[in-house]
Amino acid sequence: MEYLTSIAQLLCLSVEGELQRANSLGEIEQEIRRQMIGAGRQALEIYLKKQKPKYPAETTKCQHCGQEAEYVRIREAKLHTILGSVQYERPYYLCRHCHRGTCPLDERLGLRPNQMSAELERLGGMTGVETSFGKGSQLFESLTMVRLSDQSLDKAAQVYGQEMERVEQLWQQEAHDPEKLGQRKRENRPPLRLYGALDAAKVHIRGDKEHPWRDLKIGAWFEARGQPPRQPDGEWQIRAENITYFTDICPASEFTNLFWATSVQRNAHLARELVILGDGAEWIWNLVAENFPDAIQIVDWFHACEYLAPVAKVAFKDPDKQTAWVEKVKTDLWQGRIEAVIAACEACLNPAREDDPAQKAATYFYNNQDRMDYATYRRNGYQIGSGTIESAAKQICLLRMKVPGAIWNLDSARYVAKARAAYLSDQWSFLAHRRSHLPLAV
Ligand SMILES: [Zn+2]
Repeated sequence: MEYLTSIAQLLCLSVEGELQRANSLGEIEQEIRRQMIGAGRQALEIYLKKQKPKYPAETTKCQHCGQEAEYVRIREAKLHTILGSVQYERPYYLCRHCHRGTCPLDERLGLRPNQMSAELERLGGMTGVETSFGKGSQLFESLTMVRLSDQSLDKAAQVYGQEMERVEQLWQQEAHDPEKLGQRKRENRPPLRLYGALDAAKVHIRGDKEHPWRDLKIGAWFEARGQPPRQPDGEWQIRAENITYFTDICPASEFTNLFWATSVQRNAHLARELVILGDGAEWIWNLVAENFPDAIQIVDWFHACEYLAPVAKVAFKDPDKQTAWVEKVKTDLWQGRIEAVIAACEACLNPAREDDPAQKAATYFYNNQDRMDYATYRRNGYQIGSGTIESAAKQICLLRMKVPGAIWNLDSARYVAKARAAYLSDQWSFLAHRRSHLPLAV
């Protein structure tokens, strides 16, 4: 601490010298911060210089093949860190067996020459999944005083998405390993009631003229507390807790593996009660039937209600009549009178119309009637609407992937979405830990 006091006194002199006479606290804060980062960068450089041995060993163990590598020379490199860019030097060895290079210092400290440091990548990636890369780059610089281009933010976010994909592959192996499943069963208390939700949203993909909009499939596992209101328009006080998200752009036949693998991580297969929410999309219920035939399937309340207003709009000219019809049918739906709902929609049918919303709604309610017994679900205290919880599609897709004008490369979209899902699932430090312990390539 005495050192720090001396540094602070010197820093103060230096700041005074730079500012002459400051007009505001903000100015002083900024200047101190700027100089502290500058001093930090120099400290890092000095630290790394001290790591360079005066007399490098003649040989070292090759990090790639484990054979002996021979000393070649001192090599210079650059690091991009949260304190800015730093030059450093270290002994470089070459392996005669695999013909690859090794720098023991890089390996020991996890240095990544000419790349973002693990810390810079962690923070850059976090920024990149929260906001567009352009805006993120500005935000990053104002917060850290280190410039990171939008391409670097993109790269950092994608790298985290790729890391997440590797984790998912491990989860998939675990989810198909009877021994590991058995161990999980012995070691975990089964969840009493666990919820799953599945959804999809469109993402604009570059370069695919036939399919410019692709489905980003999104899922969530969560627990919920509280009860739905007594009336459909009452206050929804259900809180979702311990949410984990997962996502990909792929056919349902592939997404099912991710669905199962993530479910095992949440012990969904052991749950006493498993409730899955979704809209009416067929792929969702096929996936549920395939993986969890005994799960309670519920069509999300808000999705179901969205079918009603278009029917009323076509059937009645008078806005008051429209509202009255919607309210009445909504109450029937709420009370579990699904037959009355279907009959009400059928009464509005107009065979002359090509795209008749009444026809669409009647079919929808008919096909999903077994998933719309809202009166019973409410009695059992089930969460019936994911709209009030952190809607998965909104969290992952709308708030990040669909920022105005966003057109994505397919890979980029997949990885950024995966990274965002991991971030929202509180898995960022777990991924950061994995990223900072990676074997290095020289
Ligand atoms: Zn080697």
